[in-house]
Amino acid sequence: MYGWKDNIRRVRPYIPGEQPELKDMIKLNTNENPYPPAPAVEWILRGYDAEELNRYPDPSATLLVDAIARRYDLRREEVFVGVGSDDVLAMSFMTFFHSNRPLLFPDISYSFYDVWAETFDIPYRKIPLDDHFEIHSEDYAGENGGIIIPNPNAPTGIDAGQEKLEQIIRANPNAVVIIDEAYVDFGAVSLLPLIDRYDNLLVVQTFSKSRALAGSRIGFAMGNPELIRALWDVRNSFNSYTMDRITQKLGAASIEDEEYFQVQLARVVASREWTKKELRRLGFYFPDSRTNFIFARHERLPAIEIFHALKEAGILVRHFALPKIDNYLRISIGTDQQMQDMIRFLDHYLADH
Ligand SMILES: *Cc1c(COP(=O)(O)O)cnc(C)c1O
Repeated sequence: MYGWKDNIRRVRPYIPGEQPELKDMIKLNTNENPYPPAPAVEWILRGYDAEELNRYPDPSATLLVDAIARRYDLRREEVFVGVGSDDVLAMSFMTFFHSNRPLLFPDISYSFYDVWAETFDIPYRKIPLDDHFEIHSEDYAGENGGIIIPNPNAPTGIDAGQEKLEQIIRANPNAVVIIDEAYVDFGAVSLLPLIDRYDNLLVVQTFSKSRALAGSRIGFAMGNPELIRALWDVRNSFNSYTMDRITQKLGAASIEDEEYFQVQLARVVASREWTKKELRRLGFYFPDSRTNFIFARHERLPAIEIFHALKEAGILVRHFALPKIDNYLRISIGTDQQMQDMIRFLDHYLADH
């Protein structure tokens, strides 16, 4: 018997962190920014003229593209925007990894990469990180149909540094290399200046973490005009009006407030450094984080046990039941108060267990 069930495409979806709506929960599980977005975002929302929503949005999101281009000293033709960097990355997988050769990415990295590769039938090979979660450039020298690396890496928080990544880009002139810089603003060095030197480099960033706009869904890619054109073409063969009118305005206003951006970043970084010091005191080990999260294991207690104890206390962090990292917790950086509350709880809990 043949039926409609045979025509369904079956995929294994990405599983995002929980989004409980509990007001008093300390939510440190999805690397959101604990602070509000730039003040102009609220002014725009309050004054928004709903009447203009009868019109389709600008499919090229010119207002936002130009604001990003100004901020990063680029031309409009070098910027692509999407509905969160998840959208930008999905479009990039479709656009640049259309090959029979395997896509390469680290075995410990953003767990959405496997899902997109499976969804778009892209062959892939995961390259093991070393025992310290470090990347080695020479591992990416083999034949491939493209490379994607998060930097700083997620969920480890490690910044591989420009030299290693540039070696990978230089060694693979026949493949597009995507650097997923979702966390770069929290203290790593962006490879953006290299897009002029390497026509195979695409740098992807997001407003979700450093710009506190996860709820608006804005991501962007920067690269040479040929790469960017190809992305728009694929996007426009799919759905031309993905980013709504309000979001385009909010994004532009957010990126124009550099002062607020820097102040708010500095607060998150200061909380992170304080939290590192306290976690170390409590017997946690972690790679040095250049992001808004810390990827830590405890010297004595299993991660899953601490995860459940925290959750019971209303503090939500992320645990990945995956090989090599199942004894780690990924703790997002919240406000100073939230981090103090978490440390106070751990202090008591660890004293009794
Ligand atoms: C959060 C994250 C993304 C997705 O961000 P959105 O812009 O919210 O879609 C992409 N890559 C990495 C490594 C991330 O951590």
